[in-house]
Amino acid sequence: MHLFDHPDFDDHEQVVFCSDAASGLRAIVAVHDTTLGPALGGCRMWPYASDEEALRDVLRLSRGMTYKSALAGLPLGGGKSVIIGNPRTDKSEALLRAMGRNVERLGGRYIVAEDSGTGVPDIKTMALETAHVSGVVEKATEGGGTRSGDPSPSTAYGVFVGLQAAVRHRLHRSDLEGLTVAIQGVGSVGAHLARYLADAGARLWIADIDEAQVRRVADSVGATPVLPDAIFDLEVDVFAPCALGAVLNDGTIPRLTCPVVAGAANNQLAEARHGQALADRGILYAPDYVINAGGVIDVYYERAGHDHARVMSHIGRIADTLTEIFARADMERKPTAAVADRMARQRVGRTR
Ligand code: NAD
Repeated sequence: MHLFDHPDFDDHEQVVFCSDAASGLRAIVAVHDTTLGPALGGCRMWPYASDEEALRDVLRLSRGMTYKSALAGLPLGGGKSVIIGNPRTDKSEALLRAMGRNVERLGGRYIVAEDSGTGVPDIKTMALETAHVSGVVEKATEGGGTRSGDPSPSTAYGVFVGLQAAVRHRLHRSDLEGLTVAIQGVGSVGAHLARYLADAGARLWIADIDEAQVRRVADSVGATPVLPDAIFDLEVDVFAPCALGAVLNDGTIPRLTCPVVAGAANNQLAEARHGQALADRGILYAPDYVINAGGVIDVYYERAGHDHARVMSHIGRIADTLTEIFARADMERKPTAAVADRMARQRVGRTR
């Protein structure tokens, strides 16, 4: 396995391989950059086919967190962790506590939160061993109630305002009444996004490999369910990927006829060149780590002092950042993803 010359290494400050024989923990923590602050990022648990696959994922995700926090205007660096294992069958208290001890050993350079395969209860178990956690505290909501520490509703709100900004820029309209949107994946974020869009008058088509989930969301928001593979071929205004990474690739981009791609999934572009491929087809792409920053903004305020109105207002600024990226991309005739990367690197570079 290559590390220092890995194509995704990108000058990571620290990469820690963690193992605990007693619990079976095998994990990697990647701290990409702490110039702006401690590296905050989720812990993903996934049955990776190989250690190389896990390494590639964690390196790409942690660099994405540096860029995400930088463009969200947060005093946070970028990091991420992955546990190699099946979240349904391999999770145990001992394994999560061992992960917590590994986070603790980093002394606060890395703060762990939930990601695919881990949830609030798992991070609370890690918190038995380390104080460097986020995404666990119950938060106030608009109606005066509370919700769990899961940041997904905030992520969905950010995607909603980001999608509105993309529609404003590309379709020159400020309302979403009758806008047609295809959502791939209606899990935690996708389901909340569907609710926001339906309330704004959009017409929705949704797909998920979990048939029960797709039916539940379709019934609740009045969306039309479609088969997972059919989601790329719909003639809609917006495609919103809210499931997997690498979903924008050589196989899917030629099938898209929508003028806008705006969704929550991390690492949507299979390779950087796919940003250009979208631009070549006249598709406006909202860079993933910019539009999905609502979650990290939410967990940041959990540590800095949660105030619902302040959090929502900060998340609302995702629309301004995207509008700036879209305008610069037009002016420079560059893909939006390349413009966002450059802006993020500049922000980190200025502080350094
Ligand atoms: P989730 O696991 O709750 O939901 C994902 C959904 O996608 C699931 O319902 C799953 O069945 C479905 N899915 C998987 N493969 C699919 C396929 N091929 N076709 C259709 N559906 C498929 O995850 P989530 O928390 O909603 O996150 C969604 C995406 O957004 C992920 O890429 C995640 O990394 C990213 N993201 C999430 C957050 C957050 O706050 N939860 C923050 C930033 C980014």
